[in-house]
Amino acid sequence: MRHFAVVGSGPAGFYTAEALSKAYGENARIDILDRYPVPYGLIRFGVAPDHQSLKAVSKRYDKVAETAGVDFIGNVCVGRDVAVAELLELYDAVILAIGAPHDRKLGIPGEDLPGVVGSAAFVGWYNGHPDFTGLDPPLGGTHAAVIGNGNVALDVARILSKTAQEFEGSDIVGHALEALDQSAIRTITILGRRGPHQIAMTPKELGELGHLEDALPVVDLSDFPPREADDALEPGQRKSVTILREFAEIRASKRKAMIFDFFAKPLSIEGEGRAEKIVVERTELDEKGGARGTGETYDVPASLVVSCIGYSTPSIEGVAYDERGGKFLNEQGKVADRLYAVGWARRGPTGTIGTNRPDGYEVADRIAADMPPGSSSDLPGAEGLKRLLESRGVMPTDYDDWRKIEETEVGRARPGSPREKFVRHDEWLQTLGR
Ligand code: NAP
Repeated sequence: MRHFAVVGSGPAGFYTAEALSKAYGENARIDILDRYPVPYGLIRFGVAPDHQSLKAVSKRYDKVAETAGVDFIGNVCVGRDVAVAELLELYDAVILAIGAPHDRKLGIPGEDLPGVVGSAAFVGWYNGHPDFTGLDPPLGGTHAAVIGNGNVALDVARILSKTAQEFEGSDIVGHALEALDQSAIRTITILGRRGPHQIAMTPKELGELGHLEDALPVVDLSDFPPREADDALEPGQRKSVTILREFAEIRASKRKAMIFDFFAKPLSIEGEGRAEKIVVERTELDEKGGARGTGETYDVPASLVVSCIGYSTPSIEGVAYDERGGKFLNEQGKVADRLYAVGWARRGPTGTIGTNRPDGYEVADRIAADMPPGSSSDLPGAEGLKRLLESRGVMPTDYDDWRKIEETEVGRARPGSPREKFVRHDEWLQTLGR
């Protein structure tokens, strides 16, 4: 028998557990640990609430959790309740699948002013992440800015633009829905430090902006190279750029505008005790395709600034860490003897949810090569972990507990919503009578 601890129950953790279960069959016990009693990580807390079809992938993870030999152990924080080194004494291998929940810093003056938030915080706020329930982003001004030209920037701009009716069918949390419904924001400037050809937005997600009830995407075609230059782009990127060009042809009048401001590099965020504007430098592309400042500056008004410029994985004591990449130092998923990393903790914060599947399978193959499926050890696995946690007064939860929480959330859903999420840790535990 082999015992594996997968730390983190997001997509990377579940795909790895699935792969290990397939590779080892009855010869393995796989525990998926999470610091919360609720699983699915990015699916629950990161994927936009109005993208329910993406969230539906959790049904596949349910099947994994229900597989014999696979267990969900929630409410256990690795690094606080138990150390990685301790897990390695109990399990044959430990797989870090903790994602990249921290916002990358802008590194410009004013980024700590009230009114400036990172996308992890803002997305966590509307998705019911307990760390960000109290964020209370300022929505009372008329201007907001979103920094970055990736899919997260699109999510944030779209969420800021939608009407309450457009959230029907979503699982946006009540506090965010209410606040967004009262929002005075009418102009959302999306700042990209490079041009339309360099966006990191995918066509489907970009296309959604063209169909909003009360908001219009605005582009300036003078930012674009000649149309023939689009031919050199790879097909997906060409499609995104075509969609951007089409935005310029929309003739309609709506209450809100999402302005794409390209070649715009934030220099500082300024205001009297709180964000009021971003000082931006006009850029041009350098020889390597990077952003080079031109020296020309201008102001973009914004009382709310959401920086969507990527994420990093938190470091864990004793685990080799790549400061520049914001992820664990690893070689094709291997961090150290019997210690592995998968998903964003391995690769950095890029790729879709589906990217984590081959990633998890690859690392499972690596583990199987290091400890062949027919081999065994006499490590205690979950039994040892539970004894250790008990001695520390930590009460883990299991998959049945999660189903209880889920049923309660579904039971209290407002009309048109699949669930009304609990947004605090103590609410989850209360639901379980703890
Ligand atoms: P991302 O795709 O890496 O985009 C980050 C953006 O931030 C880039 O436009 C980058 O510009 C910009 N940026 C970085 N540092 C900056 C700085 N200092 N100042 C100004 N701009 C800066 O990251 P993401 O949007 O966080 O998304 C993470 C991953 O999740 C991506 O793979 C994304 O596709 C995926 N995702 C998918 C979906 C979906 O499928 N619906 C939704 C959300 C996220 P440069 O290019 O110039 O560096």
